[in-house]
Amino acid sequence: MKRMGVLTSGGDSPGMNAAIRAVVRKAIYHNIEVYGIYNGYQGLINGNIEKMEIGSVGDIIQRGGTILRSARCPEFVTKEGQQKGVEQLKKFGIEGLVVIGGDGSYRGANALTNLGIPCIGVPGTIDNDICGTDFTIGFDTALNTVIDAIDKIRDTASSHERTFVIEVMGRNAGDIALWSGLAGGAETILIPEAEESMDEIIARLKHGQRRGKKHSIIIVAEGVMSGVEFAEKLKKEIQMDVRVSVLGHIQRGGSPTVRDRVIASRMGARAVELLIEGKGGRAVGIVNNEIIDRPIAEILDQPHTIDMQMFELSKELSI
Ligand code: ADP
Repeated sequence: MKRMGVLTSGGDSPGMNAAIRAVVRKAIYHNIEVYGIYNGYQGLINGNIEKMEIGSVGDIIQRGGTILRSARCPEFVTKEGQQKGVEQLKKFGIEGLVVIGGDGSYRGANALTNLGIPCIGVPGTIDNDICGTDFTIGFDTALNTVIDAIDKIRDTASSHERTFVIEVMGRNAGDIALWSGLAGGAETILIPEAEESMDEIIARLKHGQRRGKKHSIIIVAEGVMSGVEFAEKLKKEIQMDVRVSVLGHIQRGGSPTVRDRVIASRMGARAVELLIEGKGGRAVGIVNNEIIDRPIAEILDQPHTIDMQMFELSKELSI
């Protein structure tokens, strides 16, 4: 391999820059030219492609977002769109591609691999909803942002003896809610992977009230329902001062944590190695602190799972 490309696609996440840096530097270290493709698959179709040097990725390891920018590109879901992408890659002499993004981006990478351009997927999303890896790049940073918000909300919640409903991101996955809820000592965590009856939630809130709790924090994953919707339901059932806080896009930004920078660097570098080894159509991940790789097609076939033991623990600790 003489020339490879790198792009970021789908929702951005903190640590994507650290992954881009690792891809570019690792490739150059092995005397391979690297091309940055801007605006995800849209930029690929449009030929928005530039050669990257060691200095192109200087001073970015600490920055959130992605210097290559990201985009959603419906055209790339079509065969014609994918063919245009292949033509651009051929025009630039790019023989392999590292795709940093979520499962939608992985589908694109898989399609390109099937069209003869070996691609490697690197999991970049705050949602932690990709199979084949314990953690995705950006998840840890998002959690730290959420926990900072929960701690602050807790201060005001206890001063005013209020119940707070905090809506967090995660698309169809409850990982952000579960981890931040456990770390933030939430009374109740609502995740799409587990049914919780309203009776049970209310019983727990009342129990807390009786034992003199000054506040209650309820974390709602966006995949369950909106925080506002849940608060409305709650108010119908219980006489409590309920407030809602929707954390929104602050969860996607910010300087990546050490953990995200390190896994991004390790995964980005491994992706380059896989292309050098001639192994396309694979996605890297981290499992038990080891960098692994699996076929993208296999990952896309598997449903996302969550650690139910952690969920049960969160309930045990919030009695
Ligand atoms: P994420 O990668 O974060 O899951 P999306 O689901 O929006 O984000 O996917 C990002 C992009 O990947 C889409 O805009 C589209 O260009 C491409 N993509 C998604 N699904 C497919 C598919 N089935 N085939 C080819 N490309 C796809």
